Amino acid sequence: MEACKHPRVRVLTREEDAEFVECLECGEVFDSNEFADMDIEERNLKADEE
Ligand SMILES: [Zn+2]
Repeated sequence: MEACKHPRVRVLTREEDAEFVECLECGEVFDSNEFADMDIEERNLKADEE
């Protein structure tokens, strides 16, 4: 069983120095600062929209 790479996430809360995201695949919640090295699809989509 492969570890979840959190391919799809949504932003839960966004603060000055922290942003918490939830993985739509496994449900894990984490600080996106720890996730910065990985692509976040939602951000990519928003970037496309704007
Ligand atoms: Zn995940």
